[in-house]
Amino acid sequence: MRCIALDGTGAPDVLVPGVRPVPQPGPGDLLIRVRACGVCGHDLLARRGRLSAGRGTVLGHEIAGEVVGVGVEVTDDLLHRRVALVQRIPCGHCPECAAGLTTLCREGPGFYGDDIPGGYSEYVLATPANVVPVPDSVPDVAAAILSCAVGTGLRALRRAGTRAGDLVVVTGAGGGVGVHAVQLAHHFGATVVALTGSPAKEKALLDLGADAVLVSPDVRAVRDCVRDLGGRRGADVAIELTGGPTFPLALRALGPRGQLVLVGNTEPATLPLEPGLSILKELTIHGSAHADTTDLAAAVELVASGAVTPVAAQTWPLDEAARAHEAVERRKVTGRAVLVP
Ligand SMILES: [Zn+2]
Ligand SMILES: [Zn+2]
Repeated sequence: MRCIALDGTGAPDVLVPGVRPVPQPGPGDLLIRVRACGVCGHDLLARRGRLSAGRGTVLGHEIAGEVVGVGVEVTDDLLHRRVALVQRIPCGHCPECAAGLTTLCREGPGFYGDDIPGGYSEYVLATPANVVPVPDSVPDVAAAILSCAVGTGLRALRRAGTRAGDLVVVTGAGGGVGVHAVQLAHHFGATVVALTGSPAKEKALLDLGADAVLVSPDVRAVRDCVRDLGGRRGADVAIELTGGPTFPLALRALGPRGQLVLVGNTEPATLPLEPGLSILKELTIHGSAHADTTDLAAAVELVASGAVTPVAAQTWPLDEAARAHEAVERRKVTGRAVLVP
């Protein structure tokens, strides 16, 4: 099968096409023919050597495809079904899995592109515990980005218990997770303030449901905007999708009992947390990881019903993964870039 493997870490040209044997499903596995794989900010960090990936790693955890083989212990009702995959294959029996907290499992095969070969490839392995069937109305390119680009924001909004009438600030709103978090928050009936570093993304964000878009604002501009939209003492929820660059803004945008959900970590660094602010406003800071199959199934539902439209900005053939990385790096993509084998 064709795949793109890392030839070391660094600039996009370390993403090199190659050929490997098709993986053989074990007794409990599914063999998936990859039909589309999203390019995530996580992949860029991994390629640059900021994560565990190194020479030979096949990146890509935003995978949709068709089940083309099943292990001997797997019933064949998933065979030939189109599926979207959750980024991590859990073990299914550790205490975290038993409690339904599969994103916290560290005893299974693990995370595509980190622990196991990812979707920049014609085939990957999966198990019934990390796939969700996708209806025909949802195309492959959309299905690929449901778990990470849609499900991550959905999980984050749920972590904060977002309700209709809440005022929600989304940082990094023009990115792949951001454009969907804005849509989801709007769909839940929240008032949405979208923060982006890119003026070119302003109109798209308004069209997706943002009530206001602020381009590279300072603390005062965010606070003024939140107040003008009815957040008398600040926002109810901040979905922090960049991490370091906007964390102080997001924290200071919150009103009493505000909740900040840390999701993105685009420039890994230690964050400045102001204890006085957090104590006096009784703020809550959540971490929120990737979607699980419950989140993914909900994302499939929201997209199939038309409530959320997946924004896959552009597709590239698998062999041109390096070009896709370049485009994402230059922030030329509103929404998700997707590779198609
Ligand atoms: Zn991702
Ligand atoms: Zn487990």
